[in-house]
Amino acid sequence: MRYSQMLLPTTKETPSEAEVISHQLLVRGGFIRKLTSGMYTYLPLGLLALQKVTEIVRQEMNRAGAQEILMPMVQPGDLWEESGRWKKYGPELLRFRDRHDRDYCLGPTHEEVVTDIARRELQSYRQLPVNLYQIQTKFRDEIRPRFGLMRGREFVMKDAYSFDMDDAGASKSYEKMREAYFRIFERCGLDFRAVEADSGAIGGSYSHEFMVLAETGEDTLVICNECSFAANVEKAAITLPEAEESQVELEAIAKVQTPGKKKVKVVAEFLGVEPKDVIKTMFYLADEEVVAALVRGDREVQSVKLKNLLGANDVEPLEEDQVWQATRLPAGYLGPVELPLKMVADQEVMRMINAVAGANEKGCHLTGVNPERDFKPAIVGDLRQITMEDRCPTCGGSLGLKEGIEVGHVFKLGTRYSEAMEARFQDSDGQEKPFIMGCYGIGVSRVVAAAIEQNHDDKGIIFPVPLAPFQVTILNLTPKDATFCEASEALYSSLQQQGLEVLLDDRDERPGSKFNDADLVGIPFRVTVGKTYAKEGKVEVRVRKSGETLLFTPEEAVTYLSEQVRLALSV
Ligand code: ATP
Ligand code: MG
Repeated sequence: MRYSQMLLPTTKETPSEAEVISHQLLVRGGFIRKLTSGMYTYLPLGLLALQKVTEIVRQEMNRAGAQEILMPMVQPGDLWEESGRWKKYGPELLRFRDRHDRDYCLGPTHEEVVTDIARRELQSYRQLPVNLYQIQTKFRDEIRPRFGLMRGREFVMKDAYSFDMDDAGASKSYEKMREAYFRIFERCGLDFRAVEADSGAIGGSYSHEFMVLAETGEDTLVICNECSFAANVEKAAITLPEAEESQVELEAIAKVQTPGKKKVKVVAEFLGVEPKDVIKTMFYLADEEVVAALVRGDREVQSVKLKNLLGANDVEPLEEDQVWQATRLPAGYLGPVELPLKMVADQEVMRMINAVAGANEKGCHLTGVNPERDFKPAIVGDLRQITMEDRCPTCGGSLGLKEGIEVGHVFKLGTRYSEAMEARFQDSDGQEKPFIMGCYGIGVSRVVAAAIEQNHDDKGIIFPVPLAPFQVTILNLTPKDATFCEASEALYSSLQQQGLEVLLDDRDERPGSKFNDADLVGIPFRVTVGKTYAKEGKVEVRVRKSGETLLFTPEEAVTYLSEQVRLALSV
């Protein structure tokens, strides 16, 4: 491609709303333009980068045996009624009516549509397993669209859905996708981790998120410093060490006056104990019900774990006055002994001995509280946020925190949709059974943004070679001079003959702005036809990532670049 003929409007201005670097650079580099909140046009360079990701994803899906289809973006509300999600999905689902007053929505995901296909087209176990995928525009009316391509309302997703006849088959399909995802993100040249998103109750993990490590990530990950374990901090499972036999004698409960002492630290100090000896009682509105969450005083409640333990759709923390309004109980002085509310206790709480807890009476606390003896929570489980003092659940190693961007998600669905939508096949024993399903998403457009978040410097983007819209750019510094033009043109066609993707900067611009633009848009290799060519017939090759510069004859440059690009694509 010739720069002079390409719509590649680079700019020095950074849009004020662009908070993250990928958003800034995508706009400044002329990759995207905003239409309206959360919706972008891909200009030629942006589309080339997007297509790079798309192609890698497509190749690896096909290699894993998935079949590409394309489903409509507009979906009938009836199907969503069948699955039970029409009411449940919330305002991210953009709903509208057609001229016949029928309900429709813009697809945020395609479980309903693909399950409808399966129930129509797959009748027998002989047709299974099947994995169908598409690469398509999704629409989610995100409450806070931001960060450019990272969280759009309209975005490109690859979504795949597997149909199996039994659990063993479903596990195989899941594993295949997980492996394909490793290949995809490795081929994209990204530093990523697969994190366990949810530890299934039936052993093993049934959901993994793929996270690109970058400071601007919206997710926090716990990473083992010694092994490959990584988990979302919201879900990182805590395994307690074996309980030790305690020799401490259990005290009787006693009420003590603690006027004005509400916070754990204050109460502990006042009573001369450690925060870890106090039972922290927090209150949440779980769907419609007020529940109490109990953790040790030196711990924090992890609300996602609470939500999962309760099987609730939504949990919201309650402030003191809200607790009072909802229960007429004096928050700040509340504890689990004879608390007339549903209680969820962290596993650690049940090991506490002679603890301090609120007395459910204004200005009073209890000492000598012994959980096993003195109260019975409705649920005991892993409720607290993991800390850096905890050990790796896999190898016992030390833990650290990192920020990550979720670029992919593999998930075992089981029969959630096939049951609800009566999608069944006939098994070898003649019985009708629901399909066992899995779903597997990749945020294709988000991958472009994540790659930039991870690979940039103060001059601009540093694309990993596999995702670069062009692999090489040739800068002709003197386009008015015939010798330079000839040399640049010859290089341009030789490189293209080698199968390389080349942008020839043939514009009549100052050298400075050509260098700046080349750095800004992040093309991995730059070849300059300038002074050294006039003097000694050599061109300068510069590697964007390392800054290394090499002098070559044009022929040597072609050999070097073909070799380097081939190497970078071969991972
Ligand atoms: P998030 O927690 O970021 O909202 P999600 O759990 O809603 O993600 P999924 O429903 O699993 O996401 O969608 C599959 C993939 O699509 C995600 O892993 C992510 O890469 C991408 N994705 C989701 N929402 C957006 C969005 N608003 N903009 C761009 N990509 C998105
Ligand atoms: Mg979401």
